[in-house]
Amino acid sequence: MAYNVVPLTKLIEQFERLPGIGRKSAQRLAFYVLDLPKQKAEEFAGAILEAHEKIKRCSICQNFTDSEQCPICANPARDPSVICVVEDPRDVMAFERTREYEGLYHVLHGLISPMDGIGPDQLCIKELLRRLGDGTVKEVIMATNPTVEGEATAMYLARLIKPMGVRVSRLAYGIPVGGNLEFADEVTLFRALEGRNEI
Ligand SMILES: [Zn+2]
Repeated sequence: MAYNVVPLTKLIEQFERLPGIGRKSAQRLAFYVLDLPKQKAEEFAGAILEAHEKIKRCSICQNFTDSEQCPICANPARDPSVICVVEDPRDVMAFERTREYEGLYHVLHGLISPMDGIGPDQLCIKELLRRLGDGTVKEVIMATNPTVEGEATAMYLARLIKPMGVRVSRLAYGIPVGGNLEFADEVTLFRALEGRNEI
């Protein structure tokens, strides 16, 4: 008979559903959790439940927050004339790590992808357009990934936003810092040449 302890199997299955976790890692994590003192296990389970209960979308930028407005939208020191449009809350974290960007964000929560049946109505686009109506916003930076879906979404939004008299820009493409020209593909190299700046 196979070794099967139902609660342990269930725990392993839960870890296995996490992105990037295979069977072996799931087993390792499940045994780690089993070894935790009861209080630590409760803290772990509690953190998952608390995040689910308290975290919602900011009423302005749609980023994750635990209050009506996220700390970025609520910060009067941020520049309200620029909005950086991203696919996902993780992208906001990436930009914030640079400590260079002082404008606001808008999180689309996805990209237009006809192959996956995702159209513009399933993204937070109307919430973005609503923010552009009163003349405060002068520039929208399209910071979606340079993939087919990211490009298509940026082009779609640019067509909607430009007629509103708001400048639309796109992140520059190029060679990664520390990268090597020899190993860059033709498209990257061509885009890097196109987007060159004076030094
Ligand atoms: Zn916000």
